[in-house]
Amino acid sequence: MQHVIVVVEHRGGQTRKVTYELATQARTLADALGGTAHAVILGNGAAALADSLRAYPLDVVHVAEDPDADRYLIDPTIDYVDVVARAVGPSLVLVPNTMFGRDVASRLVARLSAGMAADVTSFEFENGRIACVAPKLGGVTITTCAFVDCDYGVATVRPNAFAAQTAGGGARIETIGKLPAKQYAMRIEDEVEEASGEIGLEEAPVVVSGGRGLGGPEPFSTLLKPLADALGGAVGASRAAADAGWVPYSLQIGQTGKTVSPKLYVAVGISGAIQHKVGMRSAGTIVAVNKDASAPISEFSDLVVVGDAFAIIPELTKLLK
Ligand SMILES: Cc1cc2nc3c(=O)[nH]c(=O)nc-3n(C[C@H](O)[C@H](O)[C@H](O)COP(=O)(O)OP(=O)(O)OC[C@H]3O[C@@H](n4cnc5c(N)ncnc54)[C@H](O)[C@@H]3O)c2cc1C
Repeated sequence: MQHVIVVVEHRGGQTRKVTYELATQARTLADALGGTAHAVILGNGAAALADSLRAYPLDVVHVAEDPDADRYLIDPTIDYVDVVARAVGPSLVLVPNTMFGRDVASRLVARLSAGMAADVTSFEFENGRIACVAPKLGGVTITTCAFVDCDYGVATVRPNAFAAQTAGGGARIETIGKLPAKQYAMRIEDEVEEASGEIGLEEAPVVVSGGRGLGGPEPFSTLLKPLADALGGAVGASRAAADAGWVPYSLQIGQTGKTVSPKLYVAVGISGAIQHKVGMRSAGTIVAVNKDASAPISEFSDLVVVGDAFAIIPELTKLLK
């Protein structure tokens, strides 16, 4: 396997940060393999999105504005990526570890007789081979798996595990020819989008997280939510808070939760266990509010405010407002 291909997830040309993270990582991996870095974008809005991807260090962006890609469930996407992968040659295909990405990955693996690694959080390069590092069994085990004896590999990559960088750029845009007409079994009849005023945790520029130090569920809505709103961010939590049933697991950050990479991360009443750290360590600035100055989180925070969260957070929110 020599080249790297990113399958882009988008809706009408709107994509998420993970696309740019994969585009950046594709360059690093392609350079290590001595090959080229590609992206595939399909469906309505693909051409405009391809243009914005040119700021990232890819060699070629393959585009097909085929309405079938939006009209039918997943099958046309697999057909197009198959065509690109075979034209490019032996390659590692990167998809985001999302519902879409997992669907695409499992189908591609069968189509390309490829190896597969799921929920990858970092890559290693050894003896000319790519190895994928991924937590398993709820984070109890970290596995490192290399692709052996296969021309193609597919990796689903965890959002926020890698940085996105607009270096190099100027990728060539290539239009993929229309595929021969085909009957697909599953057509999308209707799509319902749930209205949500909340900013998604993984996309939020600011995350305000709470831990066991908050003592119960109420402070998440009365203390943290007002601060997060004042900063234009989202509320997260440690596993201790989720395990206690104070917040849903969808808010948990860490090894067995979400990985976030906001510009600002505020950890309130969180000690900073290693399993929490791995989910937020790439934040731009880390601020901890903790009554214990020697809590482990002080070792990797940019600023530690030592004191009682119940006194500090309302004052801070008032000042910000
Ligand atoms: C396999 C495995 C996977 C795990 N995955 C995750 C994961 O994904 N995410 C995760 O977070 N954890 C995870 N954990 C758990 C992790 O090891 C810690 O137990 C957990 O992160 C602790 O949560 P905490 O910091 O909220 O609680 P604690 O460690 O109990 O810390 C509470 C902190 O609050 C401070 N405090 C108390 N009162 C106040 C106050 N009034 N004002 C200010 N500060 C106060 C205390 O000084 C203390 O530092 C995992 C563990 C295992 C074994």
